[in-house]
Amino acid sequence: MVIITYLYVGIDDTDSPDGMCTTYLACHIIRKLKENGISLVDYPRLIRLNPFARFKTRGNGGVAFKIFNDDKADLAKQIILDEVSALSMFDCDNTNPGVVFYDGEITEKMKEYAFRAIYEFITIDEAEKFGKSVGCELHKFKKGRGIIGSIAAISLPLEDFTYELLAYRIPENYGTKRLIDYDSVIEMDKKTFPDTFENVDYSESYIAIEPKTPCPVLYGIRSNNVESLDIARETVKVNEPIEDYCIFLTNQHTDMHIQKADNICEMKQFGCYEVIGTVKDSPHVIDGGHMFFTVFDESGEIECGAYEPTKDFRKTVSHFREGDVLRLYGGIGEQNTFNIEKFQVIKLNDIEYRNPVCECGKTMTSAGKNKGFKCKRCGSRISSSQKVNFKIERLLNEGQFYETPVSARRHLSKPICRM
Ligand SMILES: [Zn+2]
Repeated sequence: MVIITYLYVGIDDTDSPDGMCTTYLACHIIRKLKENGISLVDYPRLIRLNPFARFKTRGNGGVAFKIFNDDKADLAKQIILDEVSALSMFDCDNTNPGVVFYDGEITEKMKEYAFRAIYEFITIDEAEKFGKSVGCELHKFKKGRGIIGSIAAISLPLEDFTYELLAYRIPENYGTKRLIDYDSVIEMDKKTFPDTFENVDYSESYIAIEPKTPCPVLYGIRSNNVESLDIARETVKVNEPIEDYCIFLTNQHTDMHIQKADNICEMKQFGCYEVIGTVKDSPHVIDGGHMFFTVFDESGEIECGAYEPTKDFRKTVSHFREGDVLRLYGGIGEQNTFNIEKFQVIKLNDIEYRNPVCECGKTMTSAGKNKGFKCKRCGSRISSSQKVNFKIERLLNEGQFYETPVSARRHLSKPICRM
């Protein structure tokens, strides 16, 4: 009997804000492995961690893949370590690559570790101790912070997942304007949405498959399945050479970073949550265009923010009224403000208390404290000081979800089209 075992490989923190990107390095390594007769089992994984990770490099995502643990496994390890040494952005202080090899079963403990890397923070020391305790082979470059995400990328179970097709530029073109035919992107979106999504931000009229940084990625297309990516790849036209493509299985767009909080007080700084709260005050804008409001429940209250980069989402938020009940999704940042990514309206407060209208048609005014109302036009009086319930028109709909524009969305945020 032959028992098949796998060698899991995790790679993280090889990139810097202005070059390289761990997915490109992985794609490069996968090609080298193939040239040596070593194939991947399944798609490589791109795993995003806690969006608030303090020392994050751009994107904060680790890559993992698995191969058969056979007589070529040692050659594979050598190729991987050589390529990481050759291609990582070692000049950047914040780039501290880590490579992890693992040839056992993915245990419950490892899964727990992976969720902690998404919900909380793990230090290099902790990751090192944990990795050794479960039998990982760890390779640290410089400070080796990448081992944190590498272990998580190997270990994370994916109940919900998406795919991302990445096309890479040839090195000569790095940093130059990307030559993507925008009309073909819109055509691709029309053909494949909602199987693919976040291709175009129609509200901000920009092409969202194109990165904003000078990295090797020419474009990235996200999807629920591989078939739609094939159509998308054929439809999108570019006027520059493509060095390579790679499809990653990812936890992006799954809301995996979001934990359900039973109440507001339970939420901690740098965590991301779903919570139900009632609006306490009308939203207000401060300098810089950020919008704030407060929500409360029986446990306490928290200030919520819709920041300037969320653009038109702020307009939606501005319609909140005191008493509205909302299901909010977001993360608690540096200032202890709950940054809203998305919300669902549970109950709208559509009652306004107004002065009664006189029989003559004029709105009455107060006749003094507890003295009822009087009409300034015809002199009529009402003895009751009770204001009248008036049903007002609301621009939001109960039950509906509202989200930030694509440009302001986190990698992990689940778009409404996937809910
Ligand atoms: Zn009157």
